[in-house]
Amino acid sequence: MKLSTYFLPVLKETPSEATIVSHQLMLRAGMIRQNGAGIYTWLPLGLKVLRKIEAIVREEMDRAGAVEMLMPTIQPAELWQESGRYDDYGKEMLRIVDRHERDMLYGPTNEEMITDAFRAYVRSYKQLPLNLYHIQWKFRDEIRPRFGVMRGREFLMKDAYSFDVDAESARRSYQKMFCAYLNTFDRLGLTAIPMKADTGPIGGDLSHEFIILADTGESEVFCDKRLLDLPAPGLDLDFDGDLEPEISKRTQYYAATEEMHDEAEFAAVDEDNRVSARGIEVGHIFYFGEKYSKAMKAEIMNAEGKSVPVQMGSYGIGVSRLVGGIIEACHDDKGIVWPKSVAPFDVAIATIKARDEAIQNAGSEAYEKLQSAGFDVLYDDRDASPGVKFSTLELIGVPHVIAIGPKGLERGVVELKYRATGESEELSLDDAIAKLTGAS
Ligand code: ATP
Ligand code: MG
Repeated sequence: MKLSTYFLPVLKETPSEATIVSHQLMLRAGMIRQNGAGIYTWLPLGLKVLRKIEAIVREEMDRAGAVEMLMPTIQPAELWQESGRYDDYGKEMLRIVDRHERDMLYGPTNEEMITDAFRAYVRSYKQLPLNLYHIQWKFRDEIRPRFGVMRGREFLMKDAYSFDVDAESARRSYQKMFCAYLNTFDRLGLTAIPMKADTGPIGGDLSHEFIILADTGESEVFCDKRLLDLPAPGLDLDFDGDLEPEISKRTQYYAATEEMHDEAEFAAVDEDNRVSARGIEVGHIFYFGEKYSKAMKAEIMNAEGKSVPVQMGSYGIGVSRLVGGIIEACHDDKGIVWPKSVAPFDVAIATIKARDEAIQNAGSEAYEKLQSAGFDVLYDDRDASPGVKFSTLELIGVPHVIAIGPKGLERGVVELKYRATGESEELSLDDAIAKLTGAS
């Protein structure tokens, strides 16, 4: 992508309406534009990051055996009347009446709709376990939309739903998702702490929230410090392996989180091991059993030939919230420092004295070579000062910058700059590409 023909409306000033750093940086870096309270346009740079996060979430869901589908954003009220949540959900639900006076709603979540699909097609335990998911926009008329995309009204969520014949199998499905979540957040460059959570209005008996630590987070985290040591590198998160409790460290971790519950239990933790911090909820998983299947009569035949309500769980990840959450965790005073896995571009080229013909040729050569090596490249070919170029590229957080200027060109070298460390080195273009290939 050549910056001269891209659409990157960066702002010089920090917009006054943004109170937290991720919101400020997303506006300054030209990632989002606010259209109304909690409603945003995703500008090209923001959309690129959103798509990268979405792709990682999708890969990990698929790897855990979940199957993707796509349900609509608009739902008929009948399904929610059947489950009893049409009245219970309250003012967070955006209710719509169509031209035929039919009650509709903009989906805040999809338990009812997926249960309706399940009961239409599945009859036997032999078709289970089944896990269906989609990645779709939701609408919740939040009382206080704030912090940019972190608490929006329209937001992108991945929601998965598991179906099992009995409680034991349902717990295994839950554990699989639990592990898939740890893998997902790990790949996003985040340390997410699973906290045992209240099941709240959704009902049921088992639930974890996944929280990333950040001072601006809305959730209060009570946690045993020893837990933080457990998700260290080397944790075996390959859920194709054994799920036996006593052998896997992963399950040990899982078991440990089972013990973390509320302030009262936290008080029982040895004083040296307490942490109390603030965090951002990026995922939430529930096992709620028969709550919807009973109300909506989603029954299956079990091995004994008996008709029983299917056991269900639901598993959400706030895909758009993660964009802000990652920035909260990964930034410095110059701007965003994207983890490589979600960076909008792998590498940028900045030409100094961009009008100079030799520089233009060298820039084009680097651009072509990097693209053929498989990199997603942003070529800052604008006729702007090095200061403007570097500060833009630092603000938007591209992990590597190759600077090409007249002095280096004379000596046959470029400057390779690393966003995360601020370090740089001089080397030939081919060596720089080889280095990036090794690093990526
Ligand atoms: P919160 O307590 O933050 O309101 P929730 O418990 O209502 O979250 P869930 O219904 O479990 O959220 O939704 C799954 C995920 O969707 C959450 O973990 C969060 O990451 C994301 N999410 C929920 N509400 C919003 C919102 N208003 N804006 C952006 N993301 C959201
Ligand atoms: Mg909520």
